[in-house]
Amino acid sequence: MLVGENPASEVYVRNKLKSAGEAGLFAELTRLPADASLADLLAVVDTLNKSAKHDGILVQSPLPGAMGHDAERRVFDAVSPDKDVDGFHPINVGYLVQNRATLVACTPTGVIEILERSNIPIAGARAVVIGRSDIVGKPMALLLLHRSATVTIAHSKTVDLPTLAAEADILVAAIGRPGFVTQAFVKPGATVIDVGINRLDTKAAVEKMFPGDAARLAAFEKRGGMLVGDVHPNVADVAGAMTPVPGGVGPLTIALLLRNTLRAAEARVRT
Ligand code: NAP
Repeated sequence: MLVGENPASEVYVRNKLKSAGEAGLFAELTRLPADASLADLLAVVDTLNKSAKHDGILVQSPLPGAMGHDAERRVFDAVSPDKDVDGFHPINVGYLVQNRATLVACTPTGVIEILERSNIPIAGARAVVIGRSDIVGKPMALLLLHRSATVTIAHSKTVDLPTLAAEADILVAAIGRPGFVTQAFVKPGATVIDVGINRLDTKAAVEKMFPGDAARLAAFEKRGGMLVGDVHPNVADVAGAMTPVPGGVGPLTIALLLRNTLRAAEARVRT
């Protein structure tokens, strides 16, 4: 479901529909105008909750501000936990805390896939997750904990973050600040996962992050914008392994969304 005309959301939703189609899933988009009410949106969610044709419901965030500050929470709470392929419903979050969830938030699950498929040891590792959001930081920390990492969650009030981060064998950045994590945050050889997706819109921002980098400046001027992560790319010189932005964690989020949908369908068939 897509409410309004947020350009970034349009791209995300288009990619999700395309990937679902390629994987052989039936997927359809329900649109509501930007001035739709919260009641309108909840009514559509209710219809989809009852629909035998749909195993997964995804309401693309952000919702228009006019819907109210708690609209997202109310909508995510209204999605049936069995169809909550985003893994945001409090029932599914509770199952995650108890390490028995079927539907878990897609982005942090994708990070675990990256680590496991790259044979990066998690059990016993010191992991630092920067960011404590409900959709990335907290589920990320729980997934690492359940795989027996020793986990620290850092946030904007954390004192001396670079020193703390530099203790990590696995450092996950989910902050939303371009190039925030520099080499000073990283223990040599550590695995660095960059969840951040930030758009640089001005030449000044590119010059600040990449001083004297003519190639990047030219790329920015050609496209009129540049996507960067929360980790400065030169951290790759220190890290043992590092995910790129774009192209690292982002595409996996969609893959895990499809897997969650398949799991929801399988669970329905079993019951
Ligand atoms: P969010 O809800 O804004 O949370 C950001 C977190 O970063 C907060 O916990 C905040 O701390 C912390 N933070 C902000 N400034 C900080 C600082 N100076 N030092 C330490 N911590 C700081 O963001 P989000 O939804 O988790 O997303 C994080 C990033 O991941 C964004 O760039 C987003 O676009 C990206 N993202 C990517 C995907 C993907 O598919 N790859 C999916 C989701 C999100 P406080 O809690 O103290 O404020």
